[in-house]
Amino acid sequence: MAGKNEPSTKDRTIFDQKCITCGTWMNTTKEMSKKGAAIITYSCPECGLSYSVGED
Ligand SMILES: [Zn+2]
Repeated sequence: MAGKNEPSTKDRTIFDQKCITCGTWMNTTKEMSKKGAAIITYSCPECGLSYSVGED
């Protein structure tokens, strides 16, 4: 009965990200690299901070 896969659990924690500078909820964009790894780009609408996080 354990047939329910929820790979999105990890993704949710990744996407719940506040700006480390001003504490505003950041916009997130998820892309796939050429290797097939997920690359998440965070951008803050308030102060303009942005950075990307790649998954191995
Ligand atoms: Zn900010």
